Amino acid sequence: MSERGLLIVLSGPSGVGKGTVRKALFESEGSDYEYSISMTTRQMRKGEEDGVDYFFRSREEFEERIASGKMLEYAEYVGNYYGTPLDYVNKTLDEGKDVFLEIEVQGALKVREKMPDGVFIFLTPPDFSELKSRIVNRGTDEMSVINERMQVAREEVEMMSHYDYAVVNDEVSKAVERIQRIIASEHCRVPRV
Ligand code: 5GP
Repeated sequence: MSERGLLIVLSGPSGVGKGTVRKALFESEGSDYEYSISMTTRQMRKGEEDGVDYFFRSREEFEERIASGKMLEYAEYVGNYYGTPLDYVNKTLDEGKDVFLEIEVQGALKVREKMPDGVFIFLTPPDFSELKSRIVNRGTDEMSVINERMQVAREEVEMMSHYDYAVVNDEVSKAVERIQRIIASEHCRVPRV
């Protein structure tokens, strides 16, 4: 039997560019991952296709799938459900292929609980690591603004600690390269016993 594939989870704060990085990664040379098409209850956007970008489903159908244990994870994001169908992920990993998920943070944390052997990558905005020192050193912001920004930074750091890797999305091509290197290294990892 072939070895089980790697589960690769790309996640990060809203607006960081996960979708753009994922698409560039899949278009790049040598990329050999199976994209897990998510299911959602949101409206289809112009240019999107059912079964390509997402499986677009009704709330009722989605809730039925949750109830019958058919989702690896799901989350409610801006009033809609988004989730990962479980069967596809398991079947594809069993075939020895790498499966790639691009999902928001709450969902990624649930996957981490269920499939801790996955590779969890947190995509961060370019100014993330500098944020704190810039806020403090600048000294020009109102205290309330500083506190608000610090709160956001704290929440993001807190989230990041649940991941294996943090990749800065300063330039899409560089972020893609970093992710490819991570995956290549993970393939050389000595199996955990
Ligand atoms: P959009 O509506 O812009 O396509 O996606 C909104 C958010 O949902 C993005 O952060 C995207 O990564 C996330 N998302 C897409 N598919 C899934 C999924 O299957 N599960 C979870 N938890 N989030 C998802």
